[in-house]
Amino acid sequence: MGSDRFTIADVVEIRGYNSLRGHSPKTNGNETYCDCPFCGDTRGKFSYNNKKNTYHCWKCGASGNSVKFFIETNYDYSKDYSGIDGSKNAIKDIFAAINGDSILQDFHRKEIAILKTKDDDVAIAADSVRDKTYRALLKKLRLKKEHNDNLLKRGLSQEIIYSLKFRSTPSYKETAGICKQLISEGCTLEGVPGFYKDKYGRWNLYIAGEGYLCPVFDGEHGYILGFQIRLDNPIEKSKYLWISSAGKPSGVSSGALTNYLPGKNDNILIVTEGILKSTIIWYLLKGEVTVIGVPGVNAKSSLRGVLDRYSYAYAYEAFDMDKYAVATTPKEQEKVDNLMKATKDLMSILEDEYGFKTHPLRWDFDPKTEKWNGNIKGLDDFLVEYKDTEKFLNYIITKGKKYTDMMKFFGSDLSKKE
Ligand SMILES: [Zn+2]
Repeated sequence: MGSDRFTIADVVEIRGYNSLRGHSPKTNGNETYCDCPFCGDTRGKFSYNNKKNTYHCWKCGASGNSVKFFIETNYDYSKDYSGIDGSKNAIKDIFAAINGDSILQDFHRKEIAILKTKDDDVAIAADSVRDKTYRALLKKLRLKKEHNDNLLKRGLSQEIIYSLKFRSTPSYKETAGICKQLISEGCTLEGVPGFYKDKYGRWNLYIAGEGYLCPVFDGEHGYILGFQIRLDNPIEKSKYLWISSAGKPSGVSSGALTNYLPGKNDNILIVTEGILKSTIIWYLLKGEVTVIGVPGVNAKSSLRGVLDRYSYAYAYEAFDMDKYAVATTPKEQEKVDNLMKATKDLMSILEDEYGFKTHPLRWDFDPKTEKWNGNIKGLDDFLVEYKDTEKFLNYIITKGKKYTDMMKFFGSDLSKKE
């Protein structure tokens, strides 16, 4: 069911801000009062008027109409709402979200919750500090059998599950005690995402759902930068949640982190989606090539921090195959179109922005129709299914090495100078 018009209430809802102190917003006539997305006020100084289609905050003075609200709350830096076409593009994206573009909606609910830091006064701790605290935390946690079994089923070995430090989330009864121990061991909790001061003034760890922790690595320095929880039961269709304490006293947001696992052939990069998925791919390819996992196809802001480390590379785009899915409804088609757009954005970052040689990887794909056969979605699934990893690796490395050989890579430029 589509809609050909939208209101400020729709836009506030799309952006995930339609709440007051964690509850439903308060409505009085045409005015609805909720938390201010701009200054973080939670006392209802911010309201929107569904009849006039406007919003206003009595604390920070933010005001405007529904389209302006959508633009001003945009944290997806791949979207550009500036210039003459800015409003037009925003309106297009609002309709896409309202008419069932689940990608955009899921992206905004999840990523905005992460990226909006209402506690600007708490700075995120340095990578080395987070690493020390997180490693000490992991030592206090166990891995439940059901979680271990799930990881084995996904293709990891028992040895690697242990060495990559997969652990189950602690129960809410354990978290305050764990924090006390961490402090006594000299660990810093301030500025480390997940930790916050609870209503008793104690340090505590916020666990938004039960599951197992998937570490995000900065493999260059050997740091654990943060975690996603792989949830036992999806929350609002999301299978993964960040460990974050954004919006809580002394809490801090995780940011949308990119998983970076360097391989022996460091200049051959496979860029894929998903923290856990990228870890599994890296392991199945025996650590021979570098694997980079962005947290979502539309969350590429932290990718650049990794790519900046390379002056040249051979990159493979390995997003899930559902971007080539055969759509049977307009809604499905829109989803496919959005995935394809996100893939093209990635190709453009790798090729145009960084000047890397880039090649898309496809599997379970019909070259005649240029469509996905619909059986194997992720590269990790493909590698589990396709047993000849050596052959696959050989293809990846041979093709990549052709371009990462310095002489061949710079050959044409060097010959011009002669
Ligand atoms: Zn405000």
